[in-house]
Amino acid sequence: MRKAFKGGIHPPEYKEISKDCQITVLEAPERVVLPLSQHVGNPAKPIVNPKDKVVKGQLVAEAQGFVSANIHSPVSGTVIAITKHPSASGIRVESLIIEREESDEEFRYEPLENPEPRSIVERVFQAGIVGLGGAAFPTHVKLSPPEEYPVDTVIINGAECEPYLTVDYRLMIENTDEIIAGALLVKEAVGARRVIIAIESNKEDAAKKIASISPSEIEVVLLPTKYPQGSEKHLIKAVLGREVPQQGLPFHVGVLVQNIQTVIAVKRAVQEGIPLYERVITVSGQAVNNPSNIKVPVGTLVSYIIDILGGLKEDAKKVILGGPMTGIALGRLDVPVTKGTSGIVALSSDIVSRYDESDTCIRCGRCVEVCPMFLQPYLLGTLGRLGRADALIENNVYDCIECGSCSFICPSKRNLVQLIRVGKSIAREVKK
Ligand code: SF4
Ligand code: SF4
Repeated sequence: MRKAFKGGIHPPEYKEISKDCQITVLEAPERVVLPLSQHVGNPAKPIVNPKDKVVKGQLVAEAQGFVSANIHSPVSGTVIAITKHPSASGIRVESLIIEREESDEEFRYEPLENPEPRSIVERVFQAGIVGLGGAAFPTHVKLSPPEEYPVDTVIINGAECEPYLTVDYRLMIENTDEIIAGALLVKEAVGARRVIIAIESNKEDAAKKIASISPSEIEVVLLPTKYPQGSEKHLIKAVLGREVPQQGLPFHVGVLVQNIQTVIAVKRAVQEGIPLYERVITVSGQAVNNPSNIKVPVGTLVSYIIDILGGLKEDAKKVILGGPMTGIALGRLDVPVTKGTSGIVALSSDIVSRYDESDTCIRCGRCVEVCPMFLQPYLLGTLGRLGRADALIENNVYDCIECGSCSFICPSKRNLVQLIRVGKSIAREVKK
């Protein structure tokens, strides 16, 4: 077992709620909502119009520029509108709305046999693959590091350190072959020498399953269970002992990190020609009636998923898109699951009341102790609230990975990560 990093926290895991729920396929909804900006980078541009017929897998919006991603329809049907629709952030964003019709038609790209590195990257771009761990960063960009920074090691991130989420765990148990095939394709794409699949010690059975069928160029390592072990920088440090420089990227130290479900998407796009139009998510929390791991079409509304799984319990207080540490608390449920959505977590009032917010700092220093980026969260939070852009930058606000450890540990229940997020966007605006 590798050593733990300095800082971090041990929040209650609550993985037991859904870890034994096998992946099932959700019945497709009557209507899907596809935000044109559901990835990092430029929004995609629609190439269909209202009233157009589309088939499942068809390209409906094209990437705009290098850092952007294609969007494909997850259902066959008719485009009924291109309009602003509520999103998880609370803002209405330009979205394609498609009404489903019964049809067996489906578009797939031509499968690639013995692909060259360049054709793997090109296919990943065509298929609209983005990081499925939550970041939604276009994968073809990650697979194209600058020539002066060759990648020697690919790390497949199986840490899944967020409480409640069990998607990657189930995929490691149920789709082991696809993970290995996808990992080898990613290795080939960047010309790396080796692949390391890194898994937290609370998923030892998954690690054993993968190790039992891995070829010699894939190594499986166990990491201590500690949040935020899945952060790229901490993963690289734990697995290889390499330090990603301040504001640097993994390729600066010869590494590429990919999420478990992302490499499955790469395998399907390359070997079967399937674009990314569906994903597996966890639905969990003390307030859900039927915890599940389900495959859903991208664009399915949260309200539909919750209804079809038997609704929420009476004491449901908060619904979060993603995990409770880095996800977004929803103000409404008619928002779509996007490519980056890893889960829906519904919390009961007794859990939520433990985190009622205040903004009084008692200067206990606990947030400083747990910050895995060695920042001063209490100060960044205050500067964020005051909108002090220069001071935020001087105190390295951009190094914050928004892990939420500081908010979790704060005895005064200050919502530090939220204040820091606001501070970051103010600093960015001022810098512009
Ligand atoms: S300041 Fe940022 S990196 Fe540090 S604990 Fe808080 S959220 Fe995590
Ligand atoms: S943990 Fe909370 S109360 Fe303690 S120093 Fe940090 S912000 Fe202040």
